[in-house]
Amino acid sequence: DTNALDAFKRIKRIDIYKQVPVIFVSAVRDYNHRVTCLEHEVDEFFFKPVNLKEFKMKVKFLLKRKIQTDRLLAEYMVTFDYATRDGLTGLYKRNYFLKCLDIEIKKIKRTKKCLSIMMIDIDNFKLINDDVGHLGGDAILSDVGKVISNNIREIDIAARYGGEEFIILLLNTEKLYASIIAQRIQFALLDLSLPSKLLSSIDKLTVSVGIADYPYSSKLPIDLINKADQMLYQAKKTGKNKVCLYDSQI
Ligand code: GH3
Ligand code: MG
Ligand code: MG
Repeated sequence: DTNALDAFKRIKRIDIYKQVPVIFVSAVRDYNHRVTCLEHEVDEFFFKPVNLKEFKMKVKFLLKRKIQTDRLLAEYMVTFDYATRDGLTGLYKRNYFLKCLDIEIKKIKRTKKCLSIMMIDIDNFKLINDDVGHLGGDAILSDVGKVISNNIREIDIAARYGGEEFIILLLNTEKLYASIIAQRIQFALLDLSLPSKLLSSIDKLTVSVGIADYPYSSKLPIDLINKADQMLYQAKKTGKNKVCLYDSQI
């Protein structure tokens, strides 16, 4: 109980069909309808009877264009990944993270929503590197990246901020709830099996975490990161393996 143009519009709303070319064939010689369809980006519109040779040529052309578009899109995705993802952990790179934070803060400025910034630094990583070597250390960093990804939502953005330091943007999340997520990550890291060479000095992987939230801790992106960083420093200073939350009373 729908017409072809409505069906076309509904199909095009589905992501995987967006690039699929569509040809209309109509028995009714209505030129206005043809123009309307072309305006809605129907790829081609034939009236019956269709000239088979012309029809085949058009199909061939549209399929060729589709293959080229798919190829370009795939190349774009690879380049985008290369530019934005950290090769070792699969998390985002710092610059991409900063851009996302800017955008998210602009987006929520007009709403009453909030977000949290979580900074994570692995405890005593120098000792770990000393025990297992740089490559062994890299493997642990890669595992930490996976643990972080597995313990946040798809809409959250996690990045490798520096060497063995990570940063996470948690959307619509106040710092108290962010601290629960931080503890979840800490617990999951305790389950990581570490190389046996390491057991002499460290038996579990622990991290220190600093958290600040928008708008309570600060409304400025860089200041928010600084405050999370201050809290990370405090966690380190007061014994490591803990989570510290920025208090706007400080
Ligand atoms: P703390 O508990 O105070 O954080 O002590 P730490 O030993 O973890 O010291 P710190 O955070 O200052 O140093 C980080 C170390 O991480 C120093 C550096 O050798 C190591 N590191 C940084 N980037 C990489 C990397 O890409 N791979 C490996 N394997 N190690 C790295
Ligand atoms: Mg460290
Ligand atoms: Mg560090």
